[in-house]
Amino acid sequence: MILGTGASPGIAMGKVLILQNEEFIIKDNIINDVEAEKFRFFKALEDSKNELLQIKDKALIEFGEEKAAIFEAHLMVLEDPELISSTVDKIEGEKFSADYCFKVVTTDFIELFEGMDNEYMRERVTDIRDVSQRVLGHMLGIKSVDLSILKESVLLVSNDLTPSETANMDKEKVLGFLTNIGGRTSHTAIMARSLEIPAVVGLGNITTVVKQGDYVIIDGDRGKVLINPDAENITFYNKLKEECEKTKHSLQSFKEKASVTSDGKKVELAGNIGTPGDITGLISNGAEGVGLFRTEFIYMNKDCLPTEEEQFDSYKTVLESLSPKPVVIRTLDAGGDKKLSYLNIDKEMNPFLGYRAIRICLKETDLFKTQLRALLRASVYGNLKIMFPMISSLEELLLAKNILNEVKAEMDTDKIAYDSKVEVGMMIEVPSAAIISDILAKHVDFLSIGTNDLIQYTCAVDRMNERIHHLYSPFNPAVLRLIKMVIDNGHKEGIWVGMCGEMAGDKKIIPILLGMGLDEFSMSPISILPARKLIHSLSYENMKKFTDVILKMTTSEDIERYIEKVF
Ligand code: PEP
Ligand code: MG
Repeated sequence: MILGTGASPGIAMGKVLILQNEEFIIKDNIINDVEAEKFRFFKALEDSKNELLQIKDKALIEFGEEKAAIFEAHLMVLEDPELISSTVDKIEGEKFSADYCFKVVTTDFIELFEGMDNEYMRERVTDIRDVSQRVLGHMLGIKSVDLSILKESVLLVSNDLTPSETANMDKEKVLGFLTNIGGRTSHTAIMARSLEIPAVVGLGNITTVVKQGDYVIIDGDRGKVLINPDAENITFYNKLKEECEKTKHSLQSFKEKASVTSDGKKVELAGNIGTPGDITGLISNGAEGVGLFRTEFIYMNKDCLPTEEEQFDSYKTVLESLSPKPVVIRTLDAGGDKKLSYLNIDKEMNPFLGYRAIRICLKETDLFKTQLRALLRASVYGNLKIMFPMISSLEELLLAKNILNEVKAEMDTDKIAYDSKVEVGMMIEVPSAAIISDILAKHVDFLSIGTNDLIQYTCAVDRMNERIHHLYSPFNPAVLRLIKMVIDNGHKEGIWVGMCGEMAGDKKIIPILLGMGLDEFSMSPISILPARKLIHSLSYENMKKFTDVILKMTTSEDIERYIEKVF
């Protein structure tokens, strides 16, 4: 048995599919046999074409014309005479290997298309990139897998999955994920939870430990992985799976109930979403609203910025489906592990400390204003609350609010309707913001604590790095003190304080957050019903006393052990 970090609950069993999604290593090898190299190139084109024809037919039957059209476009790229002749000329003229020549030619094409003023041409860049990967994979004997069209149900094994790969995959066929890197709060883990797919991450070298086609069991609650288990283990985990299903079923009785403690203290349990498609899961899990809509997922899987209209449609769909329940929509939080290729952001030494989130929006004001206009236009369709991410100073907050006010003034001039009472809030993810939350609270309608980042910045522990994962602790007294301080400062100014980091759905921490007086808990929808059941069983008065004890403790271990003893 191998142990990793349980990132998304549930038991999954099946055959593994190992993904080779790292960049291919392509060297500028000089070749002697030009004809053999050309043959290698044409053979790879032929194999790619046959593969694409098969995928296209499958896509047409299973997903319809829109998806099939993507592969039709790939076939066109594959047959592009200029792409072919430029590669052949390069092989013949410069005598480099076919893979190197093809890579250089496709990179030139990509750069050319990216620089074009025409959106349609810019969108072709993804097609060229995908085709290039497929052909190179054939030349190098590395099979690439299209996650949106899987032939059979599998457990995916990879170094990591990017959030956009996760968003694109065929959810019916992916039984679970196993990754080498990442922790509970990496965005791959967060996506797995929102898709309700069991996942274990941070396994170190799982891609080399398992072999293609191995039968594997994963336990997403306990972070366990069993490779080619014996009959006894298969029976045991089948039983456990059944029990999980039963527990899940029994939680349904909490779906319509209020989130209230045994002594009558009411809180709000909301859900975190990434796309309008996540609303079904949110509603079926009894959410009282959306506490965090990570809008960056609307910006991913694209080669250019989403238009105002596209964004408006997404925001309107979410607001209408939830109305009159509250929906907190966070403005773009790109950067860190959520990269947008078309923003052309230079590679940074420390992306999580770099040019990201509100820092991008305050520089790229057109991009920001487009999003704010789409949000305000959508505000008339429901109960919208706008939230700014990664604020680290009062100056940033005031700048962001000024831009919002400018957009409102422009909309007034243009007589475009919006809800003038939309609440405006900010995330507390940076220690500097937590420390001055008394000042910030005077300028917003609410605060929402983003503990995924707050922990990594407070403890200087990269949330993606499994080697130092033991230091990334929600029980750290420094983190708990900051949280308490933010809640108290918010309440002193008469505003509500929520939490949308993963801590808010953690059963071990909920009693403390309750005792601290947190008003709103926003979590992966899958955690809502277990959290509500727990809250019903707790007394607020007792949790206040319990929290007082916790806040006097000095180490993460003592705190965690004490919580385990009491509950
Ligand atoms: C957080 O940092 O806690 C948060 C909710 O934002 P994200 O996980 O998207 O960085
Ligand atoms: Mg964050």
